Amino acid sequence: MKSLTPPVILCFSGLDPSGGAGIQADIEAISQHSCHAAPIITANTVQNTLNVIRFETVDEKLLREQAMTILNDMTVSAIKIGMIGSAQIAEAIYSVLLEKQDIPVIFDPVLAAGGGTSLAHDQLIDAINTLIIPHTHLLTPNTTEALQLTDINDSTSDAAKKLNIMGADYVLLTGTHSHTPTVIHDLYHQSKKLKSFEYKRLNNEYHGSGCTLASSLAAQITIQSDVIKSCQNALDYTFNSLLNAQPLGNGQLIPRRII
Ligand code: PLP
Repeated sequence: MKSLTPPVILCFSGLDPSGGAGIQADIEAISQHSCHAAPIITANTVQNTLNVIRFETVDEKLLREQAMTILNDMTVSAIKIGMIGSAQIAEAIYSVLLEKQDIPVIFDPVLAAGGGTSLAHDQLIDAINTLIIPHTHLLTPNTTEALQLTDINDSTSDAAKKLNIMGADYVLLTGTHSHTPTVIHDLYHQSKKLKSFEYKRLNNEYHGSGCTLASSLAAQITIQSDVIKSCQNALDYTFNSLLNAQPLGNGQLIPRRII
């Protein structure tokens, strides 16, 4: 008898040699949810737990060929996108999404590293807005990313609503960067706030928390399609990984995703 196979999640992410963020975060979080990660590297980064020094994107033709070769073989239940790195890579990912429009896309729009280094220039932001966001089922910007993507100066809720209008079906606006006593994450759909999720504010800084959240969300969406429940479960899982995070370098702590 054939055993039940785990849902496959195709991940487009950067490689972070510290193992905190990027593709390693995706593989760990997705595996912990009993799903299978199919990893496609968008960019190779030089970084540690303190900051990103520099990065090089991969050849975009190679990336497209890798993704299509997997999609022509495996049944992929969700596509998770993290760091993209260049407008050319965004175009290659877009060409893949066009061919597989029925697969839900969970997109963490990585624009900067925790240490401050920019991971996206203006051309990439344009490509994200015009090519990737219109194909996104669930977008997970932090407040800084939401303002930057929408060119809105201060109102993060207006930015989230605009991201819905730009084509992201659901927007989970994460609140770590806001100066509130607790951390509040807000879920938007059709430019209305659907639900808020509140967590204790932790004192430390973490490397790969956004990647952990987006990839656990991708797994949750394949397990049950209810977006509110998926957000609650993925946020609980991510918070727990931060509570157990470890100081493996001299900078940000690395979430403990495999328990
Ligand atoms: N992906 C890669 C490859 C990165 O290098 C980084 C940040 O340095 C991120 C994603 C985003 O990390 P975080 O989840 O901490 O925002």
